[in-house]
Amino acid sequence: MSEVARGCQPNAQRDNKNLMQRCVHHVFYFGLSGEIFSEQIRRTLLVNLFSIVGIVFTFPLGIAALYRSNTWLALVLLCFAFIFCINQFYLRRTRNHEICANIIIYPLYFLMLYLVFTGGVNGTGYVWIFCVPAVSLFIQGIKRGVIEMVIFTLLLIVILYFLASVYGFAFHYDEDLRFRVIASFIVVFFLSTIYEYSMSRFNKALHESSKQLKELAETDPLTQLLNRRGMQQRLEEAEGAELRLVLIDVDYFKNINDQYGHDCGDFILRSLARLIQKELPEGAWLSRWGGEEFLLALNDAYLGQAIEVSEKIRQAIEGYDFNYDEQKIRITASFGIVPLGTDHPLALALKAADSLLYKAKDAGRNNICV
Ligand code: GH3
Ligand code: MG
Ligand code: MG
Repeated sequence: MSEVARGCQPNAQRDNKNLMQRCVHHVFYFGLSGEIFSEQIRRTLLVNLFSIVGIVFTFPLGIAALYRSNTWLALVLLCFAFIFCINQFYLRRTRNHEICANIIIYPLYFLMLYLVFTGGVNGTGYVWIFCVPAVSLFIQGIKRGVIEMVIFTLLLIVILYFLASVYGFAFHYDEDLRFRVIASFIVVFFLSTIYEYSMSRFNKALHESSKQLKELAETDPLTQLLNRRGMQQRLEEAEGAELRLVLIDVDYFKNINDQYGHDCGDFILRSLARLIQKELPEGAWLSRWGGEEFLLALNDAYLGQAIEVSEKIRQAIEGYDFNYDEQKIRITASFGIVPLGTDHPLALALKAADSLLYKAKDAGRNNICV
């Protein structure tokens, strides 16, 4: 399809696609959004999916069993359909995937063992057990899933080899069949374990590298402080909170580069970042806003506190000897303090901080303006 043709995609068609996407998102993800690799979202999705599949299979099969006058089987299947419905309702209300996972998995084990024991419809009950390892490992995770599957396999052996001969109403499997049922179940269990293990390792690696990339994208490589993007992100996330922003700009920094060289300039910026950090109150965010400018965000600070912190930083900078190549270098910095909050949006606050900084420079530098 050409660009023009694609651009002309009818609105109705696009709306239908969006509606479909929204429906899928609502049904399977409950409208949950956030970090795509979040374990919470993955588990909620899986538990929801298995609960829907449980209803879709047990309900019609229960009706079919009722139709064939297989009353016990019908009763059991309809009971499970009901449990899965309640679970679905509870999961939608509470999003508590842990409790809901247990409400799916333990009845499922019971139903499968019951089907094997009674034979289900004409001895076909065992065909359903092969989905159990995948469901169990997905829902319970690798460790708990493997333990539960080992117990399930042992129960399967007990039912197929021992219980059938004790209880007259149990289904009688012939020797070849019961051996093959157990052997093939173990093969599926083994393959599901390997698959789940590799998937969980892959997910973990993906999660780690996405975390590292995010950190890297938000960190200034020279000072290891937040960079402008990281600070902006935090400020946007804290929308609505009342903060004080302090913009700090080193005075005559160009002269340092010219006089001592660029490496010395870098050394001073690194040392300065550590120096300012030492003076910060708890919960403050410091970032390298650009070049030789630092932006500080103080939580819940009234003007007096912000001035006090800025004054401490100003004095610390003024009185500090930056030792580079056996030379003691002194610098000063200028400060602009502005409020940030519902009445003072970020863009305007930054503009105001910039003007205050100019004012501080005009007033002779090494100054704080509010
Ligand atoms: P003012 O008192 O007016 O702020 O003077 P200034 O010299 O600090 O101001 P100006 O903005 O003209 O110069 C900033 C200098 O900071 C220019 C640039 O070379 C230097 N600079 C910016 N980023 C870095 C950096 O990463 N490393 C080094 N060494 N220098 C940097
Ligand atoms: Mg500057
Ligand atoms: Mg400067």
